[in-house]
Amino acid sequence: MLDNVKIVLVGTSHSGNIGSAARAMKVMGLSQLVLVEPQCELDEQAFALASGAGDIIENAVIVSSLEEALSDCTLVVGSSARSRTLEWPMLEPRECGEKVALESSHSKVALMFGRERTGLTNDELQKCHYHVCIPANPEYSSLNLAMAVQTISYEVRIAHLDREKQKYSNDVETEYPRHKELELFYQHLEKVMIETQFISKEQPGQVMNKLRRLFSRARPEAQELNILRGVLTSVEKHHSLKS
Ligand code: SAH
Repeated sequence: MLDNVKIVLVGTSHSGNIGSAARAMKVMGLSQLVLVEPQCELDEQAFALASGAGDIIENAVIVSSLEEALSDCTLVVGSSARSRTLEWPMLEPRECGEKVALESSHSKVALMFGRERTGLTNDELQKCHYHVCIPANPEYSSLNLAMAVQTISYEVRIAHLDREKQKYSNDVETEYPRHKELELFYQHLEKVMIETQFISKEQPGQVMNKLRRLFSRARPEAQELNILRGVLTSVEKHHSLKS
């Protein structure tokens, strides 16, 4: 269901881009717009560029943190024009459309887009399961924000229409943990690693980032995450008995 797909715009500074993004969404059948700390008003310019998609702006949810935007999503994809210092699982726009169409048939999905000037921060990018990059001209690869929303939303629509055609297909529906459950797991993991002195609190290094990347790649299912939490709890108990 396309209603399960959230378009999350982070720190947008031009209201016109929000309007154009709303229009881009509506023509592709998407309706859920979330604005994280927008740096502009939802003014006339936004509504003018939205054209007939003003309802998407009116219904947009404005939040002050990314966590709020992502917490109920089982899949988070960040759209980025370039790969950063930390390599991350990448999707082609087409694959992205397919994954989003499949997952949104049973749970909420976020497609995240960055600021006009600076894109998404590394911190924000590390909250994603995947990054998607539109393979544009390498010498001039940065699309206007709303056009990036258009391109990715189009792929989601195409994949959604394909799935509608093949309704009889029997995908196994896997239950994945929600973003907030994953974050709790990471907190637990870090705590145990500090308690057992695998890493030091003062100088944690890159271990947590690398482990986040590992788990993003592996995508533990809800049940698997429960097992991992159980392992951590048993380590904690054992450790406190010994010390
Ligand atoms: N100068 C910024 C570009 C920001 S463009 C940077 O280098 O990151 C605003 C947003 O549009 C980006 O954060 C990204 O979400 C999206 N975007 C622009 N070009 C893109 C591309 N080629 N592939 C994927 N996303 C893109």
